[in-house]
Amino acid sequence: MAVEVIKSNCIGCGACVQACPFDALDLVDGIAVVDPEKCTDCGVCVGVCPARALHLEESKCSPNSKEQSCNVKIKEKQVDNSEISKYKGVWVYIEHSYGDIADVSYELLGIGRKLADDLGVKLAGILLGSDVKDKTKDIFEYGADQVYLVDDPVLKDYRTEAYSHCVESLVDKYKPEIMLMGATTQGRDLAGYVATKLQTGLTADCTELAIEQESRLLLQTRPAFGGNVMATIVCKESRPQMSTVRPRVMPMPEKRPGNKGEVIEEKNTLQEDDIATKILEIVSEGGGLVYLDRADIIVSGGKGVGSKENFKILQDLADVLGGTVGASRAAVEAGWMEQSRQVGQTGTTVRPKIYFALGISGAIQHLVGMQTSDVIVAINNDPDATIFNVANYGIVGDLKKIVPELTKELKKRLQG
Ligand SMILES: Cc1cc2nc3c(=O)[nH]c(=O)nc-3n(C[C@H](O)[C@H](O)[C@H](O)COP(=O)(O)OP(=O)(O)OC[C@H]3O[C@@H](n4cnc5c(N)ncnc54)[C@H](O)[C@@H]3O)c2cc1C
Repeated sequence: MAVEVIKSNCIGCGACVQACPFDALDLVDGIAVVDPEKCTDCGVCVGVCPARALHLEESKCSPNSKEQSCNVKIKEKQVDNSEISKYKGVWVYIEHSYGDIADVSYELLGIGRKLADDLGVKLAGILLGSDVKDKTKDIFEYGADQVYLVDDPVLKDYRTEAYSHCVESLVDKYKPEIMLMGATTQGRDLAGYVATKLQTGLTADCTELAIEQESRLLLQTRPAFGGNVMATIVCKESRPQMSTVRPRVMPMPEKRPGNKGEVIEEKNTLQEDDIATKILEIVSEGGGLVYLDRADIIVSGGKGVGSKENFKILQDLADVLGGTVGASRAAVEAGWMEQSRQVGQTGTTVRPKIYFALGISGAIQHLVGMQTSDVIVAINNDPDATIFNVANYGIVGDLKKIVPELTKELKKRLQG
């Protein structure tokens, strides 16, 4: 049965035509028309239609449903039940560079600990690199029971083939049921490669992870269809169940000094000659880098700021507080701020101690990037703006008048 078009609702925007992975939709006289031969009932169009003009009978893909079960078939290697029961344990890929473990790896150890406890299994970190054995201490102190270590000069710098080869070999030998990676440049690259090689399911950019007790499946929740639905995705028939999570989405766990665990050392079986990628030079970008995800205080502005020049008011507030200026996508698209400062689904996810949302309406795509901030302060001239639903403190009024006053007062109190 193909998707049905409710003609009276269709506004002819073409969003469904663009979104359909099977070219099954077209606009005829400004109304969407479905080709039943091509339609697979995957439901992608239903989710993107802003006018609710598409209907999938008995669909679990309605834009309002929390649990998504779309019919898009992705090839996974099926593992039968007796095989599945051999997969045990939760693994976190430990990302590091220039001697530092990435914060996201610790955050994943925090959520990984909870998942492992719920399943009654061990939590392990996978540590690959050269001369990295001393880092195992931190991994245990952030909650791991075990570290799978491959320490070899060939692994000095991250290279997809080499790292993926090690992860695949470890998975083949030790069979974890869950594997978590940071949705960083490295994690995104590695996770996609490893999942494809292992022919298993990978859910990118998860914002929530939990265990369904009865089935022991990992419930992987992430925003889908431009943030209009939260999709909960499960990987039933292949292992490991793989997820990536963005930095700062999960809370940082408490460090437990002195916590110890077991190091399981494995050999790297790949020689330098087997690796096609050669690193000639590593060039670090000088200056101008914005570490929004590490900022404790973010002063963010949206379309309501009104102009590029007005962002000076936000910079003044940020300077007094020692914070960083962020922006909504609307402000970035207006050319008022650079993209590296964008907060939200297609920008950076942040979790500062204080987030100022100034002239930001609170669209879901913005909220998913900042709503876990410890304290949210919103200033908006519209009392009904959605941002007030997540704000701890709100002021209704013109930010151009309020923010300079706030800056003046804070300066007086903080700097005497
Ligand atoms: C796939 C997709 C991904 C997206 N990704 C992101 C993302 O990563 N980040 C993101 O931010 N958006 C993203 N968006 C866009 C998002 O849907 C919104 O359009 C955007 O967040 C709106 O930005 P805004 O709140 O600054 O602007 P608006 O929605 O225009 O809101 C401006 C607000 O300012 C208030 N205002 C106006 N003047 C003043 C004043 N003088 N004083 C006080 N308040 C005032 C208004 O009342 C209003 O609430 C995405 C959209 C899609 C479809």
